[in-house]
Amino acid sequence: MKTLALLAQSIRDVPDFPKKGIMFKDITTLLKDPKRFKQTVDTMYKQYKGKKIDAVVCVEARGFIFGAVLAYKLNAGLVLVRKKGKLPYKTYEVTYDLEYGQDTLAIHQDAIKAQGSVLIVDDVLATGGTINAVCQLLKKSKAKIAGIGFLIELEFLKGRKKLKGYSITSLIKY
Ligand code: AMP
Repeated sequence: MKTLALLAQSIRDVPDFPKKGIMFKDITTLLKDPKRFKQTVDTMYKQYKGKKIDAVVCVEARGFIFGAVLAYKLNAGLVLVRKKGKLPYKTYEVTYDLEYGQDTLAIHQDAIKAQGSVLIVDDVLATGGTINAVCQLLKKSKAKIAGIGFLIELEFLKGRKKLKGYSITSLIKY
């Protein structure tokens, strides 16, 4: 079986989590399998190897997992985007709409040097709201977005529409 099919097979579907009607893509089953975890990181790495990337930007919490290993492999810095109130120094903040209510994400103002080239990494592209907010934070930081990489893309939610103009990759599409 092809690598991507094997990766897809190791992701567990959990119906009605965290609420009714949502099919949750549980990647803990992939992460705990040493072979599959390595294949995932290696495949994501191949897509960006050789590109000029100063920093990998990732969002808590699952984004940190892939962001950290990719930053290490790409010899890039690691920049954390966190929920409001978690970062200790001066921050830029962006508030965005969720299905119910709003959320605010933050990045340290000095996290990225102006014109630095960054790769954004996350586990799942769903509606695109979260990563769109990350892109807005990066605009405030004057970063150049070299690409956005996801493990999973839920195509039916049309997240790419919110991220027009960026170079996006995803390994597994549903
Ligand atoms: P969104 O802002 O809608 O693109 O979704 C942002 C985050 O929500 C993703 O990075 C995932 O961590 C999480 N998420 C959304 N939908 C799912 C799902 N069906 N399964 C697993 N995680 C999800």
